[in-house]
Amino acid sequence: MNSNLKNEILDVALIGSGVMSANLGALLKSMDSKLKIELYEVTEDLSHESSNGWNNAGTGHAGICELSYTPDRGTDGKVKVGKAVEIFEQFEQTKQFWAYAVRTGMIDRPSDFINAVPHISFVYGQEQVDFLKSRFEGMSAHPFFSKMEYTEDPDRIREWAPLLIEGREGMPVAATRMKAGTDVNFGELSRKLIHWLGKQNDCTFYSQNRVTDLNRCTDGWELTIKDLKTGISRSRRAKFVFIGSGGGSLLLLQKAGVPEIKGYGGFPIGGQWLVCDDPEIVKKHDAKVYGLSPGSAPTMAVPHLDSRWLEGKKTLLFGPYAAWTTKFLHRGGSFMDLPSSIKFHNILTLIKVGVSNIPLVSYLIQQGLQSMKKRLKELRNFYPDAKAKDWKLIDAGIRVQAIKKEDGDAGIVHFGTEVVTSKDKTISALLGASPGASVCVNIVLEVAQKCFPEMCSRKKKKLKEMIPTYDKRLGEISTLEEVTQYQEWKENAENKLKLKS
Ligand SMILES: Cc1cc2nc3c(=O)[nH]c(=O)nc-3n(C[C@H](O)[C@H](O)[C@H](O)COP(=O)(O)OP(=O)(O)OC[C@H]3O[C@@H](n4cnc5c(N)ncnc54)[C@H](O)[C@@H]3O)c2cc1C
Repeated sequence: MNSNLKNEILDVALIGSGVMSANLGALLKSMDSKLKIELYEVTEDLSHESSNGWNNAGTGHAGICELSYTPDRGTDGKVKVGKAVEIFEQFEQTKQFWAYAVRTGMIDRPSDFINAVPHISFVYGQEQVDFLKSRFEGMSAHPFFSKMEYTEDPDRIREWAPLLIEGREGMPVAATRMKAGTDVNFGELSRKLIHWLGKQNDCTFYSQNRVTDLNRCTDGWELTIKDLKTGISRSRRAKFVFIGSGGGSLLLLQKAGVPEIKGYGGFPIGGQWLVCDDPEIVKKHDAKVYGLSPGSAPTMAVPHLDSRWLEGKKTLLFGPYAAWTTKFLHRGGSFMDLPSSIKFHNILTLIKVGVSNIPLVSYLIQQGLQSMKKRLKELRNFYPDAKAKDWKLIDAGIRVQAIKKEDGDAGIVHFGTEVVTSKDKTISALLGASPGASVCVNIVLEVAQKCFPEMCSRKKKKLKEMIPTYDKRLGEISTLEEVTQYQEWKENAENKLKLKS
């Protein structure tokens, strides 16, 4: 750790050690090696909140298998696939930057944080089968998804993922598969990037340091930081602050008092997984399998059966089951988080959300109270032969959904992510949850372009070296030349990340 900054004014203060701060810090420092950057993390270990491997599903969201990104049909009855294309494009940018980090020695051993795993969508019942077929037709016509396979043949699905078929009888099934999916340990990646950052000149990170207040000052912002080991608070000035505090971002933005936060609220949704470690079962499943949302389940609670690489071994996760909570963070959070986030300017929005989302609220309560028997019933929709003895329930992370005023009127639960930036571009924060970590480079690029426009225009060549498609609408490629160029970029990134299966 390089700590010769002492009393200097920082160029950048990063709050939180999750995947967002880690990638933003690494991106900015790579663009300008003179930047003075400090990062503060409240917990003892780095990146142990939502970005931690066990706290999220680790899916490299690329729109391949997540049916919730393609819920709508056009007037012609065909499934609209635009959102899936957009997410694929954003994940490509993310992989390009990680590949750059490996190529230049910023980080090593990509298999510690990213591994190839097929992405499968699986449905049952005729209505769902018709939906998947239409989705496949739309998706496979795009160059991103041209290698997608589709089948309604149970034996073929058995070859792809035997657990889905064993013990299943007599109803129509269908699946799509792309081999080029990924499993990502976002926590491991974040730690690697932060340790790299900590070794650079004029950069430092601190764990067990809680940012407790933010106030404007002539240079930008004055942060109050409490060292939890000594109990002593200190202040630090920074020209630019990024609040990458996950669930804690809303409360910090409220403390900063920027007008842009008015009307925003947060709605926490906890998560839980069923986990199986039995090697005989684990070795039979090598895929991430996503299905359709049951009833009023929010999109982020759509169930999936996932192969995961965690702590050096393969395991199986099913879920997430949603759970009711008032905490915004698992580790550094408090049950008072939700009540204390309610302000005069967002109370109306929150009440409206409560009233207009009664099915969602009752879904969360019912999910939180359900028995193991009911949870297994849901698992058996995917894996009919699942036995209770092979599975245990563990907590996942908490997602704080951003709630905002729409058109000055109704509050809606906003399931996407939202970058909130002050008018003078000196403070920026990420609210919301999905698709989250997978598109982190696209998100932090947006922050960099908005808040450091002069640097981004000066460093265009560097940006292109790090993220070759940073200024491209990759989703719109159609000519042979464009497709060939895209494939070259893709291959380069995947080779560096050792994703070739
Ligand atoms: C159940 C679940 C499944 C998910 N599945 C996926 C998936 O499959 N793929 C995907 O791409 N995304 C997924 N996500 C979303 C993804 O995990 C998040 O988008 C991402 O990890 C958010 O990163 P972050 O850096 O914003 O926040 P975090 O990783 O939560 O980091 C924020 C950090 O800030 C710290 N902090 C908070 N307040 C303070 C303070 N005052 N001072 C100092 N430090 C502070 C926290 O301790 C924490 O370490 C999932 C999330 C959940 C909950």
